[in-house]
Parts: sequence; structure tokens; C-alpha cells
Amino acid sequence: MMAGLLFARAGVETLVIEKHADFLRDFRGDTVHPSTIELFDELGLAEALLARTHDRVTDISASVGGRRYRVADLTHLPVRHKFMMMMPQWHFLDFVRDAASRWPAFALRMESEVVGLTETAGGRVDGVRLADGETISADLVIAADGRGSILREAAGLPRKDLGAPIDVFWFRVPKPRTSHNETMGRFAPGTVIAMIDRSDYWQCAFVFAKGGADRIRAEGLGAFRTRVASAVPEIAEHLDAIGTWDDVKLLSVSLDRLIRWHRPGLLAIGDAAHAMSPVGGVGINLAIQDAVAAANILAAPLAQGGPIDGLLGKVQARRMLPVRTIQALQRIVHTGVLGPTLDATVQTEAPLALRMLGRCPRLQRIPARVLGLGIRREHVRSPAINV
Ligand SMILES: Cc1cc2nc3c(=O)[nH]c(=O)nc-3n(C[C@H](O)[C@H](O)[C@H](O)COP(=O)(O)OP(=O)(O)OC[C@H]3O[C@@H](n4cnc5c(N)ncnc54)[C@H](O)[C@@H]3O)c2cc1C
Repeated sequence: MMAGLLFARAGVETLVIEKHADFLRDFRGDTVHPSTIELFDELGLAEALLARTHDRVTDISASVGGRRYRVADLTHLPVRHKFMMMMPQWHFLDFVRDAASRWPAFALRMESEVVGLTETAGGRVDGVRLADGETISADLVIAADGRGSILREAAGLPRKDLGAPIDVFWFRVPKPRTSHNETMGRFAPGTVIAMIDRSDYWQCAFVFAKGGADRIRAEGLGAFRTRVASAVPEIAEHLDAIGTWDDVKLLSVSLDRLIRWHRPGLLAIGDAAHAMSPVGGVGINLAIQDAVAAANILAAPLAQGGPIDGLLGKVQARRMLPVRTIQALQRIVHTGVLGPTLDATVQTEAPLALRMLGRCPRLQRIPARVLGLGIRREHVRSPAINV
């Protein structure tokens, strides 16, 4: 959707194709990082975005054995919006769609499923095939169809699976409304729960060893509630809100990236190019940065009808460093923090790094910067036509 907005803004006839009738899917990630809000600022859209209902997170903590350590303080970031915006992804996508629709070159087709690619005799991708048999031709196909991308398969782009030792159950637990929102990770022997403060409810991510979902479900909802309550006693009285397993959504975590993101006529971005772990809540933000980089490199030549195949590799070259770096950090958290905590049977002391962060507020600015601004931050440089 973001790529659609940026290419249409540059005057490139753009069609976004979405298989669902709406964007309403729960727990698809709500974290919009400061770097992403800045991009909306550069587009003159931040004020309108922030006028929509959202929550703000300015600091992130970890609780180990009942002791709380603040690990990231976003209030010192060198940007205008020094907070993480929490907005359900469907509201966010509705906003981007509304903003994109103001550009005459933008079009959106809902309830249209892409099932394959069309190619020229020379093997260049020149369009897509829809489930109803229709074909749509295009100078460039952007595969932004998520981590189960059929287009990257159809294009034969090689993929590297980095492996992820965890899966996640998402659920929400009501809480009294507070003015200050805090997001935290709770670490107890055998249990890790990330809790995102959404003012009047906690959005909780219960982390467990990969493949363990059926075993946890077989133990029953009562046992699951007890496990959550023992790690986070203060929400125990609200856990009845988890009425059935339908209230608990499984995220099968994957961590992968394409070795090659493109071939003539096609470019993969976002989760289709690199599925991220939920650690750090970076997926939306990296996908949007990819869209900005793609538009910066490709929108002007496309608008002028020039050749673009030679430029597709530049998008990958630009984006590979942040993807590699964040995935490497996520793997360190998987193996160095989450794995040992899930395996633990007795409470151990918090790691030294955490204790140091907790003690020294200035140090908390470093994780805030990596998380909030990412690596090799993009800025909108693609042109805008007058409308
Ligand atoms: C449970 C869960 C929790 C998450 N939590 C967070 C979080 O807190 N913060 C964060 O930043 N990220 C989070 N993420 C990751 C984040 O949702 C993704 O990284 C981000 O949405 C990627 O954007 P994308 O546009 O590349 O792909 P997607 O958001 O997956 O969008 C792909 C779109 O393509 C459509 N589509 C797929 N196939 C076809 C087809 N064949 N034809 C037509 N349309 C098609 C899909 O319906 C979908 O709308 C989470 C993901 C999950 C699953």
C-alpha cells in the first residue's frame, strides 16, 4: 500500500491488488516506529495520521524475576515524534489507502487474488494472472504479498531460511486505563511474555519453543491461564477474558530472506523479501522502508518510461544491510535470551547487560535508537506530481 502511494504520487499508474475484502486481521502488528512516523511527516501526512486513534509508547522495560529494568527510552530520539505509535494494522492500512487515493494514478482492487506471473517470450515478467483468469500487464510487478508470497515462488527467487526456535500465542487481557503506556517483556523460568500496553488492554505475546502449540493446547486453557498468571500475577484476575482457544492466535514465527529480491520485471519487498521475527516489532517498519527505497530508486525512471531492470538490484543492495543486521540481532535474542529463559527451571539473576541498562538511563538511548530509527533509515526522495 505504501509503495502504491509513493509510485502514484510520482505519477506512475499504479494498481494495488489485495485478495481480501478488507484489512481486518487481528494481531498483525500494531507498532509504527518513530522512523516510520517521520516518513509520514516528510509526506505531509503525519498530522492526519496522528489525529487517528492510537496509543503511544515511550519506554520499554524487561521484568526478570519480578524486578523491572527499563531497557529503552525513546524520549531522546533526534526526531520530531519521540514515541512508538500503536495502531491496529487495519486502521493504519485504511489511512494509507485513503492518503494514496488522492493521487489520480492510484488504483486498488480488493478481493482479487494473484495466482501467477505472466512473462514475455524472453522471460521478462510483464504482469500477473488473477484467480478469475484475468491478466494484468505491468512494466514492474512488486511482490509485496507477505511471508507466504506466491509471487516469489512463481518468480523462482532463491530463499535462505534462517530458522526460528520460537512460536508465539497472541491474546489480549483487559486492564484499567492508564495515562502512561509501557511495553515490557516478562521473563520467568520457562516463560516469556511480551506485554504491549494498549491503554485499556494488554496485548500479550506468549513465547514458546517452536512446534509446541498443540502440546500447550492439549494441556487445556486452565493450565495455560495458570502459566500466564504465575509469570504475570497482576493480570491473573483478568485472564477469564481468554474464553476459548479462539481468543489465542498462533503466530508461527519464521525468519528468512531472499538471496535475490528481483528478476527482470519483478521486485520483492517487505515480508515477501524477508520474513522477520516479532522481536522488536520491526516487520511493518522494514516493509515500509523497503517501499520508500524502491520508490526513491525506481519511481522517477518509471514515470519517464525509462528502463528499470538494471536498477532493481540497487533496491536490494540498499535494503540488505538493515535486513541482515536486524535479523542477526533477532537471532541473538532468540538464542541468547529467549531460548535460555524457556529452558530454565530456576530463576537466575538478570543478565549483566540488562542490569547495566536498568541502572544507567543514558545507556537506554542506544536500544531506543536501534529500535526506533533502525539502520540505514530511508527518507522520501521520490518525486511528487502536482494534483
Ligand atoms: C501475528 C503477527 C504479529 C505481528 N506483530 C508485528 C508488530 O507488532 N510489529 C511489526 O512491525 N510487525 C509485526 N508483524 C509483522 C508485520 O505484520 C509484517 O512484517 C508486515 O505486515 C509486512 O508487510 P507486507 O506488506 O510485506 O506483508 P503483509 O502485511 O503480509 O501484506 C501482504 C498482503 O498481501 C495480500 N496477499 C497475499 N497473497 C496475495 C495474493 N496472492 N493476491 C493478492 N493479495 C495477496 C495479503 O492479504 C496481505 O494483505 C506481525 C505479524 C504477525 C503475523
